[in-house]
Amino acid sequence: MSAARGRPLPVPEGGFRRIAVLRLSSLGDVVLTLPTVVALRAAFPAAEIAYWVKEEYADLVREHPAVTRARVLEKDARRLEDLVSMSAELEDHDLVLDLHGSARTRLLTFRQKAIVLRVPSTRLQRERWVRARWSLPAPLPPVWQQSAPLLARLGLSLAGPPRLHPSAAASAWAAQEWAAMQLPARTIALAPGAAWATKRWPEAHWCALEAALAERGLGRLVLTTVAERRALPGLAAQLASRPGGAWATESLARGMALMARAAAAVTHDSGLMHVAAASGLPVVALFGGTHPALGFAPAGSGHAVLCREEPCQPCALHGREACPLGHHRCMTALAPVEVVAALERVLAEVVP
Ligand code: SF4
Repeated sequence: MSAARGRPLPVPEGGFRRIAVLRLSSLGDVVLTLPTVVALRAAFPAAEIAYWVKEEYADLVREHPAVTRARVLEKDARRLEDLVSMSAELEDHDLVLDLHGSARTRLLTFRQKAIVLRVPSTRLQRERWVRARWSLPAPLPPVWQQSAPLLARLGLSLAGPPRLHPSAAASAWAAQEWAAMQLPARTIALAPGAAWATKRWPEAHWCALEAALAERGLGRLVLTTVAERRALPGLAAQLASRPGGAWATESLARGMALMARAAAAVTHDSGLMHVAAASGLPVVALFGGTHPALGFAPAGSGHAVLCREEPCQPCALHGREACPLGHHRCMTALAPVEVVAALERVLAEVVP
């Protein structure tokens, strides 16, 4: 039963019993739904809350105290017929929150008897930022707050930005690994990867940043996938040439646990930006072909968002394979010295 828009909804006496939250992907988007799950848990402490998510992101929610269980969609079970048969699992739920609004989640929730609340799409507002900036679009609300109108219909509200909970096993592993890497007491997590080329800062700038941090006695922990590491040979060679630096290409669970031990992070507009902020780190976030006004700035306070406000920025909702103007000025003109200064500012604000 898809609930009519806007009207307050009756909450059953004793609260909802079985709740499903659907957000199948991606890394940052799943992180940004966590405050919604926390609000549901606070209101319905006895409910079973199942979080439906693709297996590559399941570590984000598996150990979260507000989630009863992760309903994992394996890579080989996402065809149309798989989804139709999985939708039967939702039949004995009394509340379904579709925080994805994709074709897959619409199929999963089609003709369910439960109350189905779906987060409204902001695609048109975001498209306006890319294609019609002359119409002076307003900044979008932070994505982690976009479920607020849905929760209001249940008489609930969001309490604060997302927080991640690495598993005890991953945290224990990270403690040992951290000691073995012999990183300085104050180490900065660097995340030079991003799915789209226009979101990436040039490798030479990352090298300059790494050198500046080493000069200041700060540790450097680079976190990427294996493929991203292969694409940054100069940074890998430079990091290996002096003490106080390490490179990790670990699973999401371990990467999260390592990230949580850093003093701050420097990232692109990427999934790891949201992981870092939700791990309690102050983040220096570098925005290239996108823009923080689209709602994806790091959640919470104490961060620094660096965006040059080029006239062409943003040139895409998510990013592009190459700069359509050829110069990629949004990133090449963002100088390492500005990033170092922003990092010093956010570190100065952290209570020692
Ligand atoms: S310089 Fe402009 S057009 Fe090129 S990637 Fe950056 S925002 Fe897009």
